[in-house]
Amino acid sequence: MEKQKAEQLERVSSPELDKVLGLPFKVLDDGFVRVVDYMGGDTSIVQAARVSYGKGTKSITDDRTLLRYLIRNRHTSPFEMCEIKLHVRVPMDCWRQWIRHRTANVNEYSTRYSIAIESAYKTEPDGWCKQALKNRQGSEGFFDEKTGAELSKKESELQKACFDEYNRKIEMGVAREQARKDLPLSTYTEAYWKIDLGNLLHFLELRMESKAQYEIRMYADVICDEVLKRWAPFSWEAFRDYRLETISLSKTDEKMIAAIVKNDPSEIDSLAKSMGYLQEKDGQVRKSRECLELEEKLARLNLKSPFKN
Ligand SMILES: Cc1cc2nc3c(=O)[nH]c(=O)nc-3n(C[C@H](O)[C@H](O)[C@H](O)COP(=O)(O)OP(=O)(O)OC[C@H]3O[C@@H](n4cnc5c(N)ncnc54)[C@H](O)[C@@H]3O)c2cc1C
Repeated sequence: MEKQKAEQLERVSSPELDKVLGLPFKVLDDGFVRVVDYMGGDTSIVQAARVSYGKGTKSITDDRTLLRYLIRNRHTSPFEMCEIKLHVRVPMDCWRQWIRHRTANVNEYSTRYSIAIESAYKTEPDGWCKQALKNRQGSEGFFDEKTGAELSKKESELQKACFDEYNRKIEMGVAREQARKDLPLSTYTEAYWKIDLGNLLHFLELRMESKAQYEIRMYADVICDEVLKRWAPFSWEAFRDYRLETISLSKTDEKMIAAIVKNDPSEIDSLAKSMGYLQEKDGQVRKSRECLELEEKLARLNLKSPFKN
């Protein structure tokens, strides 16, 4: 069997990320994200990709071009060669969304073993959102500052009452695992969170999206623009270009755009019906979620919506 030539390898590092190792990036009022450790970077991704594409790749395509190709074509496995370990402090309700991402390794602060972190996320008077009418999962618009101030005051009082009762039980000797039932969901928790870059991009794509909740979006934004940008700048750039700031078109969307450009009213009408757009007799219209989402895409393309309001 032919012997492999010994190849001296250099450890891949990201000097820009090294500069901020361990430094917390503040998120919300008392949360943070800090990098504890990492493995690899842009170079390790292209290194891994070249194993599958062969040495010839180097001559025809540079690292940035190759990375953009990989992200554009969802060739994800080379990104799994990089790992990052973060230390995060997050309100428990936000953490509940975060922890749904199963492809990470997690170690969370234990409120069975330790006294809970006496800090809870507070919403500022201008940050109280109204329930969205159409999207049951979302919010739209804000309460006025006077109402917001009252809500913030109530929230502080409630959080204080919860912590007072929790501390009273702890002092009485009630088990920590039981006393913690009194803690509000806004209480901060901390965790070590380790994930590979491929799955991190998936997390960021879902959690930076405008429909994700504000709080988790704030964390995802910091991880993307403070951490990922320093760690793997070419991947960050390609991710923003091809995964984040893109729109995806269904076959029907595509046909609708063609019909709008061709100005074909009967095709527009038939496609609109197939998307759940209904014009009722009394002039009332009903737009399905699919129609509303298409309207958002058309607005980004500077095209007029074919649906009447
Ligand atoms: C805006 C928004 C609203 C949401 N609303 C709700 C809600 O109302 N209720 C709710 O329960 N959840 C909700 N979620 C959570 C969502 O359903 C996912 O659980 C979460 O986003 C994690 O995504 P994921 O499974 O793709 O990620 P990960 O768990 O990180 O998995 C990454 C990928 O690995 C693969 N994978 C991982 N585990 C498995 C498996 N066991 N089997 C097959 N493939 C696997 C899948 O391809 C998956 O996409 C919401 C998420 C978002 C972003």
